Amino acid sequence: MNASSRAITIIGAGLAGSLLAILLSRKGWDVTVYERRGDPRVNGYESGRSINLALAERGRHALRQADAEDAVMARAVMMRGRMVHFAGGGEQLQRYGRDDSEVIWSIHRADLNITLLDLAESAGAKIHFYRRLHTVDFPAGYARFIDDRDDSPHDIRFDTLIGADGAGSALRAAMNRASPLGERGEFLGHSYKELEIPPGADGRFQIEANALHIWPRGDYMCIALPNDAGTFTVTLFLPNEGPTSFANVRSGAEARALFERDFADALPLIPHLERDWEHHPPGLLGTLYLDRWHLGDRAVLLGDAAHAMVPFHGQGMNCAFEDCVALAAQLEARDNLASAFAAFEAERKPNAAAIQAMALENYTEMRDRVDDADFLLQRQLEQVLQQRHPDRFVPHYTMVTFMRIPYAVALERSQIQRELLQQATRGHADLAQIDLDALARTVHERLPPLQVP
Ligand code: FAD
Repeated sequence: MNASSRAITIIGAGLAGSLLAILLSRKGWDVTVYERRGDPRVNGYESGRSINLALAERGRHALRQADAEDAVMARAVMMRGRMVHFAGGGEQLQRYGRDDSEVIWSIHRADLNITLLDLAESAGAKIHFYRRLHTVDFPAGYARFIDDRDDSPHDIRFDTLIGADGAGSALRAAMNRASPLGERGEFLGHSYKELEIPPGADGRFQIEANALHIWPRGDYMCIALPNDAGTFTVTLFLPNEGPTSFANVRSGAEARALFERDFADALPLIPHLERDWEHHPPGLLGTLYLDRWHLGDRAVLLGDAAHAMVPFHGQGMNCAFEDCVALAAQLEARDNLASAFAAFEAERKPNAAAIQAMALENYTEMRDRVDDADFLLQRQLEQVLQQRHPDRFVPHYTMVTFMRIPYAVALERSQIQRELLQQATRGHADLAQIDLDALARTVHERLPPLQVP
């Protein structure tokens, strides 16, 4: 498409909006971004949620396309695997991959967002802060924004709008009013609360730095991700209702009692438990499904605005970044906006649905399975099968996290592999009892060699 004649207006300068602004500005598009909040470089970052995020290969690849990878990785903390803290005491590191070439990275949301904003502006994008999208007149090409500091309205004319305004997207609501998108939201029934482990007296991490810590407790769990300043952000996921739930654990003192009972080794590390508990409201978790992501050539949605998901695969941002690369490529490849948006939607929607499903499944695995004997035996067998059939049997976590094959392919192959692992380990306590030659025949029958792009 002839980019020089086209202007693009992006709603939201969060993670996806600012990355897309870099990619499109560099390709010669005239990019303007409108962001509800103030400039984080001037006013500090107001986020209110998930202070740090796990960055994996899909996200890193997108950052590479925007020449942002080095700046982001300079402050990232490597996480080799899950450090599981057992209910009865003791801990165990379960590696994510084969070695340190297969790891994930903890990055700070504010640092990442600021890096991307700087790069977007230097690529030529114009970013307007304190502009909350309020209403859109699609046929006339007018949009109204509100400055929440004084409620003043600001009207603009646009050619096309890209919605990177997150799970509560105002652009999605406006598109839905103009022509229903088939929106369906499913709340999880569990919410989360963030707490902090500060550095020790020597300024260093108080627990193993290069791991994602998990305290699995059946129906609920705690996790902790490292930050480069020696702190950990702890996230407690609990049901909204039930015996151990946000309905029952309300006060800071009740939270302390819960930690004394279920997370005893974490409790001494969190000095401000009561204060943080009472000041941070629980964050809601859910999955958003849409039948359509675009409105002709007038508007398209991406990232959380199109497909918010629960955070248990650590892929929401990674997926949103893949969306940005895919949309920028379709805009280059097609000769009009409507066909670029339609092709983007056709490419990404099945993959977003696949990672949404895998993220939901992973919650059960993290809180309830990582400390089970049959789960651990299946992981051992998975490693053996990976060594014996490296082009056919690629572990689920590897396909999602360390590769860029479509999520839908990862889901399909993971379902077959899970079935094979369950059948092969049923009734067995160790690997020596499993007939690996018979299993090799099944692997060849059911899993064709994996095509890597
Ligand atoms: P957002 O980051 O939400 O950005 C939206 C932007 O739009 C914001 O700047 C907002 O202020 C702005 N905006 C909103 N409304 C308007 C409006 N009306 N007008 C103008 N601007 C507006 N993902 C991972 O990959 N790895 C992880 O480890 C991970 N952990 C997570 C943990 C938790 C607890 C949660 C809740 C999420 C996690 N995610 C993770 C998911 C990740 O946070 C999101 O997928 C990602 O932020 C989506 O980026 P986005 O740009 O689409 O939306």
